[in-house]
Amino acid sequence: MKKSWAGLLLVLAACGPSSGPALPPSGSSDLRFEIPSWSGAWYKGNTHAHTLESDGDASPEYVARWYKDHGYNFLVLSDHNVFTDPVTLSHIVDSTFLLIPGEEVTSSFEDASVHVNGLNLPGLVQARTAETLVGTIQANVDAIREVEGVPHINHPNFRWSFGIDELRQIERDRLLEIWNGHPTVHNEGGGGIESMEEVWDLLVTGGKRIYGIAVDDAHHFVGEFSPDRANPGRGWVAVRAGALEAPALMSALEAGHFYASTGVVLDDIVVKPRSLEVFIGTRGDFRYTTTFIGSSGRILHESVANPAVFELERDEGYVRARVVDSGGNLAWTQPIFVSRR
Ligand SMILES: [Zn+2]
Ligand SMILES: [Zn+2]
Repeated sequence: MKKSWAGLLLVLAACGPSSGPALPPSGSSDLRFEIPSWSGAWYKGNTHAHTLESDGDASPEYVARWYKDHGYNFLVLSDHNVFTDPVTLSHIVDSTFLLIPGEEVTSSFEDASVHVNGLNLPGLVQARTAETLVGTIQANVDAIREVEGVPHINHPNFRWSFGIDELRQIERDRLLEIWNGHPTVHNEGGGGIESMEEVWDLLVTGGKRIYGIAVDDAHHFVGEFSPDRANPGRGWVAVRAGALEAPALMSALEAGHFYASTGVVLDDIVVKPRSLEVFIGTRGDFRYTTTFIGSSGRILHESVANPAVFELERDEGYVRARVVDSGGNLAWTQPIFVSRR
């Protein structure tokens, strides 16, 4: 883990936070960003929530209504090894709110918890085990792929189950929880273990195209809302898609056509051949700082402007933006990859 922070410290020492990294200029005019082929509206959704069907405290109907009433456009009910067919809740679905069938495929290997969400599933997926930890994670990703569902690997730091060494060996996964609203999942790492954001940067730097999602992992809809309970409304994604339909949303998620958030809204993300522009949806008198991050988690540039703009001058491998507001809320864009033609 220390590699990324060593790199960061070098950059800070050498250049200050608003300067570029100490990489050689490309010397090449064909350096450019891969421009995402996205269009359509932004749809807000949560892909991880529990109900009384497993260890949540409210019915599927109550949970679905909570999200609909709070302005979400889509929801995946993801109970532990229980499949809830959205057909049973079709009276809640309309042109503004979609339920996507899913499940938290819940397995383990020795002391490690292996939880992989399956999105847009046709029915129950049986959790699998294998001879190794990596094999167990892979087996559950594969079980979801075999029925044409979309897997996302959940909260690796929950019970300190696995990390970069395991995740870099997993194949056919595109989505990783970089932020989960459950109070005991250790998003920030610590004590020698990487934060999920560091893990994400290390994976992408190593060549894995994986996108970071934020989720609620909500369990507690009834009674007190407090930091030590797994309440809803904490982490979500906003997906850019041509329609509020499961196939369009799934393709957009797997292509990285979305941002993750714990409270900051982005009005738009514009990628041009040599720039990345982040348009922040401001609220009240909140103030915003945008950090542009590249390969190995290096800080490339900081901006307090809106839009926040990064100009591509060197081969950074990839560039992503992280926006923080004055209340500590965040938004993360997906990595935009640098290509040379
Ligand atoms: Zn879980
Ligand atoms: Zn969960």
